[in-house]
Amino acid sequence: MSKKILVTGGNGLVGSNFKGKKNYVTWGRDHCDLRNKYSVEKSMSEEIFDGVIHAAAKVGGLGGNMNFKGEFFYENIMINTNVIETARKTRVENLVCFLSTCVFPNDVEYPLTEKNIHMGPPHFSNDAYAYAKRMADIQIRAYREQYGLNYKSVIPTNIYGINDNFDIENGHVVPSLIHKCYIARETNTPLTIWGSGKPLREFIYNKDVAKLTEWVLHNYNEDEPIILSTSEEISIKEVVDMIIEIMNFKGEVKWDINKPDGQYRKPSDNSKIKHYLPNFKFTPIYKGLSETISWFETNYDKIRGTKNQSIVTSQQ
Ligand code: GDP
Repeated sequence: MSKKILVTGGNGLVGSNFKGKKNYVTWGRDHCDLRNKYSVEKSMSEEIFDGVIHAAAKVGGLGGNMNFKGEFFYENIMINTNVIETARKTRVENLVCFLSTCVFPNDVEYPLTEKNIHMGPPHFSNDAYAYAKRMADIQIRAYREQYGLNYKSVIPTNIYGINDNFDIENGHVVPSLIHKCYIARETNTPLTIWGSGKPLREFIYNKDVAKLTEWVLHNYNEDEPIILSTSEEISIKEVVDMIIEIMNFKGEVKWDINKPDGQYRKPSDNSKIKHYLPNFKFTPIYKGLSETISWFETNYDKIRGTKNQSIVTSQQ
C-alpha cells in the first residue's frame, strides 16, 4: 500500500490547496468528526499515513473569537488532542500542526519570535482560542521528547485567500471586508468597517502557506515552531483601500469605532523561515487580493459564509 499524507481541514483555507494533489488525502468535516476520539481512530486506522498536515481548527476572526469562546476552546482542544494522539498511535512519524499568531502574549517585546509563545497571557479577545492552540505546542513538544517523533508546528500570520470563510460577523477581516464590499456595491449602501483602521497586520496568501507547509513537513525537525510570515505590516485602512479599488466600489465608507480594534499590532520575526528559504517569493498582497476577489465574485453562490444570507439582511 502506498503511503500518503493526510491533510485535515481539507476544505479550508490552507487544506484545500492539497485537494487532488498526488499522494495527499484531504479530509473535510463530512469525512470525520475530529472532535470525537473514536471517529478519528476509526478513520485514521483505515489507511496508512506517512505524514499529517493538521490544518483543521475551529477558527474565526475577532468577532468569532469574542462571541464563541467556549466553543473555540473546547473544539480546538479536542481536535488537536485527538489528531496528534491518534497520529502517534497509528505510527505516523511526521506531523505539522497549525498554530496562530493569536498564541503570543499580548504584552511582549516585538517582534514576536518562536521563543516567546508562553511568556504571558494572550490578548483577552482571543484568549480561549489562544490557550487551546498553546496546548497543541505543549503536546507536540512532549511527544517529541517522549516518543522521538518528527512532530512540529507552524505559526502563520493572518492568512487570506480563496476557500476562506466569508461570514461577515465571524470571519477574518479580509473575507469579511470582501463580502461587505460586494454587498455595499450591489445594493448601493455604505460599506461599514470595524474600528479605526489603524491596527496593523501581516497578511499571507494561503497558497504561500501551503507551499511553505509542504517544505516544513519534509525538511523541518525542531522543537520550536516556525513562523510563516512576510514580516511586512500593513494597516487595516490600507487593506480596505485595496479591496475598494479592486472591487470598483464607489460608495460611502463608514468607520464604526464602536466595533473593536483588537490587538493594535503583532509584528513577527520571520528570520527563521528566511534563513531556511532565502529565495522564497511571497505573493504581493495586491495580487493575492485580486485573485481572491475574482474567485469570490465568480463563486458567490456556493462559498462558505455567503450561503443563505440575503444580500440585504447581511449588510450591517
Ligand atoms: P485578528 O487579526 O485576530 O484580530 O483578526 P481579524 O482577521 O478579525 O482582524 C481584525 C482587525 O480588522 C481588527 O483591527 C478589526 O477592527 C479590523 N476589521 C475591520 N473591519 C472588520 C470586519 O468586518 N471584520 C473583522 N473580523 N475585522 C475587521
